[in-house]
Amino acid sequence: MSQKKTNGEVIFVGAGPGDPELITVKGVRALERADRVIYAGSLVNPELLGLCRQGTPVHDSAHLTLEEVISLMYEGTSHGETIVRLHTGDPSMYGAIKEQFDHLDQQAIRYSVIPGVSSVFAAAAAIKREFTLPDISQTLILTRLAGRTPVPEREALAKLAKHQASMAIFLSVQDMQSVVDALVEGGYPASTPIAVIAKASWPDEEILQGTLETIVEKVKLAGIRKQAQILVGDFLDPANGYARSKLYDPTFTHEYRQGSKP
Ligand code: SAH
Repeated sequence: MSQKKTNGEVIFVGAGPGDPELITVKGVRALERADRVIYAGSLVNPELLGLCRQGTPVHDSAHLTLEEVISLMYEGTSHGETIVRLHTGDPSMYGAIKEQFDHLDQQAIRYSVIPGVSSVFAAAAAIKREFTLPDISQTLILTRLAGRTPVPEREALAKLAKHQASMAIFLSVQDMQSVVDALVEGGYPASTPIAVIAKASWPDEEILQGTLETIVEKVKLAGIRKQAQILVGDFLDPANGYARSKLYDPTFTHEYRQGSKP
């Protein structure tokens, strides 16, 4: 008689930004051994489901409430299943995972998290940029405009814009005019470079580049209304150049390398 497994678990997996090769090796292994998968259907590449064993039940969470997701997890794990909960990009950014963790904690269901490549990094890769240039910015702000989900007033885009740090704005391209208005109100000059990267790493990726003056029109013409990263800051196109790194400067000494005299 085969022994019944009773010790199920849930593994939250970052699916990456779209390209199915951008999931981690650990994420692939979790999918390969999953007994059930619950995936965020609106953004996760369905090709990833092909990694599961044939016949593995899959559920698109776009049609489910939190309670329904939890009840699937409860049912499955009580029968010993390993359930993969597949979230787009990295689960810790706008993934609504904490509320799932809290329910699982309450019911003493084991779970773990495998990180993923966030769309913010896929967007930077698409346009081949570095967020952190010496003298330009050493800070990246990840944020969004308030929508149906509110943003605390102290984090209003115009307030964050005062830092003029490198910025990545999620979930906001449908209201590009408000994004630009807030950035200008906060103090970014109208000539500040800005890029919109839609569907980064997907075959139909689109890249628009301009300034705060020109980008609204470009986004309108391209008809981009969702699934886009908005990247803003001088790191995109430093008008007056930038300082080279210390780390790779021949005259700079550090733990692993003796620098030469200047
Ligand atoms: N956890 C995800 C973000 C989920 S919120 C991550 O780490 O990327 C959804 C928002 O992410 C979208 O509105 C969009 O702003 C951004 N996004 C997700 N996938 C994207 C992609 N492939 N290209 C550009 N932006 C993307």
